[in-house]
Amino acid sequence: MTTAHSGVSIRKVRKAYGNVEVIRELSVDVHEGEFMVFVGPSGCGKSTLLNLIAGLDRPTSGRVTSEGRTTLMFQESALFPWLTVGANISLALKLRGVPRSDRPGQVRALLSSVQLEGFGDRLPHELSGGMRQRVAIARAFAQDVEVLLMDEPFGALDAMTRDLLHDELERLWLDRGLSVVFVTHNVREAVRLADRVVLLSSRPGRVVEEFHVAADRPRRIESPEVSGLAGTITASLRQEVSRHAADVV
Ligand code: ADP
Repeated sequence: MTTAHSGVSIRKVRKAYGNVEVIRELSVDVHEGEFMVFVGPSGCGKSTLLNLIAGLDRPTSGRVTSEGRTTLMFQESALFPWLTVGANISLALKLRGVPRSDRPGQVRALLSSVQLEGFGDRLPHELSGGMRQRVAIARAFAQDVEVLLMDEPFGALDAMTRDLLHDELERLWLDRGLSVVFVTHNVREAVRLADRVVLLSSRPGRVVEEFHVAADRPRRIESPEVSGLAGTITASLRQEVSRHAADVV
């Protein structure tokens, strides 16, 4: 059998915690270089799925394979609070084996790629939430990953900061040719970013529907194309949530 050239392959994955089934028979491929976004009702297993892809947890049955080096970025930026911004990024470079003398230059380049030149000496608590998320993005890129997993990374930010980070993430993704697996409950954000949006069902999570997003990039979150498709996906999501509510009653 030939192996598909995909960033991530999820095959008939089932995940249960005790007798609670969180994911049921989920199969999906994330292609190399693809920006894939999972949306679904809260509790449908999105974070669980990312953990499985990251290898932090194992499926109860089925198989998850990731072809590239992978990193997982959380909603909260999870920087080391006692290290400066520069040292947080430098540590990732060190762990990757970048020689000490090359690190300062690379830290500067990474900070500049997220528009934070000159902030290397600050501590995380001296920055805004949006800036900390940018540092987390820079640190993720310092790891030289091929697959970037993002769990609602911009959920806590104001709309304007989020728009800026969408632009930066898109630029970095295109520059690096990464595969991205991004989880959000914000359907507009999904359409703004994704090549493909996969709608998951209420728990246990399964694929309900896939939407290919053909609109040109960079997209504006408030554009008619984004709003139009977001409306269609939201309608499916509502149907899914109410179907589940009917099951429960
Ligand atoms: P989502 O990210 O879609 O909101 P999660 O993947 O966080 O959903 O969680 C899906 C379900 O799995 C939730 O009902 C949650 O309570 C349950 N769950 C997640 N992790 C564990 C765990 N380690 N033990 C038991 N239940 C868990």
